[in-house]
Amino acid sequence: SVIVADHLTPSDTIMLDKSLVMGFCTAHGSATSHAAILARGLGLPALAGAGAALMNVEDGTTLIVDGSHGVGIIDPDVKTVEYYEKRMRASQTMHAKALKHAHEIAITTDGHQVEVVANIGNVEDSKAALDNGAEGVGLLRTEFIYLERASMPDEEEQYQVYRAIMDAFGDKPVILRTLDVGGDKEIPYLNLEQEMNPFLGERALRLCLARPDIFKPQLRAALRAGLGHNLKIMYPMVATVAEVQAASEVFEECVAELRIEGKPFAKNIEVGIMVEIPSAAIVADQLAKQVDFFSIGTNDLSQYTMAADRTNPKVSGLSNAFQPAVLRLVRDVIQAAHAEKKWVGMCGELAGEPLATPILIGLGLDEFSISPPFVPIIKQIIRNLNAEKMAVLAEKALKLESPEAICDFVRSEVPIVAELAG
Ligand code: PEP
Ligand code: MG
Repeated sequence: SVIVADHLTPSDTIMLDKSLVMGFCTAHGSATSHAAILARGLGLPALAGAGAALMNVEDGTTLIVDGSHGVGIIDPDVKTVEYYEKRMRASQTMHAKALKHAHEIAITTDGHQVEVVANIGNVEDSKAALDNGAEGVGLLRTEFIYLERASMPDEEEQYQVYRAIMDAFGDKPVILRTLDVGGDKEIPYLNLEQEMNPFLGERALRLCLARPDIFKPQLRAALRAGLGHNLKIMYPMVATVAEVQAASEVFEECVAELRIEGKPFAKNIEVGIMVEIPSAAIVADQLAKQVDFFSIGTNDLSQYTMAADRTNPKVSGLSNAFQPAVLRLVRDVIQAAHAEKKWVGMCGELAGEPLATPILIGLGLDEFSISPPFVPIIKQIIRNLNAEKMAVLAEKALKLESPEAICDFVRSEVPIVAELAG
């Protein structure tokens, strides 16, 4: 469970009284577990991997939760409290300033405009996304709609939910990702077989291709809900060209059925894939010929590239998207898509990391899809960058040998980023 309080703002340093804390469901910086992503979406400062010892702290003890840097301080002295209060105020001021410009476009000082959209999981998130200036949805994690229920939603129920989300965004783009279950996202009523390595098992698109009874109602509901709106569909966990072709066949079957049934649905929509498995990044040139767009999922791309479980704090240094190996794949994927004149977004948590923004602008990323609370600050950072200079910075950054070296380099080359990030 997480603590929910209205006044909390993202990337803030917040003082919490432990009596308010219902068990530490925690997340900081680059943490990408399901729980961490939920906390970030709510704008909750949180820590990952703080350890069980935290629960032995006396109730009423003051805790400092520094969500930006992954630091927790138990029973801090007066000086530390003063320091963090100052930082918290500075961060809140920065956030309030960015919020004033949240509805303006994100354009670099040399006139390069990018899209800044939001990652959402349900209808309620739509409001937070729009209030924070999101220009649409870059990732609708539809699995949350399934996870919140005790039984399988049928086509009609899914249609109602997707329709409400599409309506909220009017003609703004909404990328609906088809069901991504498995890994750390389990849905009991699907009665899936236990697997030794669920992250490497029949997850996401693999499951959908094996289970048209799950896949088809979702595609049909999405196509119907997209009518009159700017719907795009995206498949998660693509590893091969054959999977994309198989998914397209099912998609075409749904289109044909809806046509025969005389049900109205969205036509000529863009279909894309997540690039989050190293094999997809490696054959991105082939995949780019099959689809309209890519969205890079750095959460999974990091764990699979580095062979480091994204939910295991012991290896969080490895499953870090600032790893040079991951950033080089990001570079290659963007280049491969652009060679085919396809656009590339990013919906992994790296897209919302202020220190990554200069690198991603430099690599030519077209769309940033992030947790709603972080939209204003990332837009503000982009407005302070020169894309041409960032291209040079990115090239140098990718020659460095560790996440720390890369982050230090960005901090020293683009001090405004560290300042805006708080
Ligand atoms: C990702 O893997 O980067 C991603 C955005 O998908 P999820 O976090 O839902 O697996
Ligand atoms: Mg993923």
